[in-house]
Amino acid sequence: MHICKCNNCDSFLWDKNPKSSAVEIVGNLPFQVAKMVYNQAHVCPNCNTDEYLTDLSPEVILPKAYYRLADNQTGGYLASSCNAVGLAAWAKEFLEYHCSDLCDDDQDLVEKLYALSPEEVIEVAHEAGFSLQMSQYPFESDWFLDKIPVHLIQKMWITADGEICVQLNNCTIFTTKEDINFIDGNAISNFF
Ligand SMILES: [Zn+2]
Repeated sequence: MHICKCNNCDSFLWDKNPKSSAVEIVGNLPFQVAKMVYNQAHVCPNCNTDEYLTDLSPEVILPKAYYRLADNQTGGYLASSCNAVGLAAWAKEFLEYHCSDLCDDDQDLVEKLYALSPEEVIEVAHEAGFSLQMSQYPFESDWFLDKIPVHLIQKMWITADGEICVQLNNCTIFTTKEDINFIDGNAISNFF
């Protein structure tokens, strides 16, 4: 889903006509989002017009969102920059991935890319065939195991197979004692 705002009544609305590079929101948001109604066009349900509808920067929607990139061709997700927190952090991690493919002759281009705003980096990712998604909670990801903030862990337990199951707000991750390098021993013992 995508979101926009009516600047007349200050409502957040689920956007029926997002631009193609708009950031997709996965899961719920911590505030109310209204549905548009159709009256010759998709309009604000309070103001009955689309005159005041504006796109929102992802950072305005959720300053500390988690991000991931969906590969439009394969439907998979890019490991690099997955679960970066905040748009600026995502843009930096994406550029490190994106620029590592460029050769030394492209230094000018690399400099230009790093000078872009995070919003402009979204366009670069879009042109490279990716769609940016954001979520209030971390995305389920093997690559995320070394980045999980302890306060997001709701529950951890050992399964019958000896795996460690880590339950976050909106996803569950299976790992092993060897791979559970994201939490110190004391923090782990609090969960068992
Ligand atoms: Zn309105």
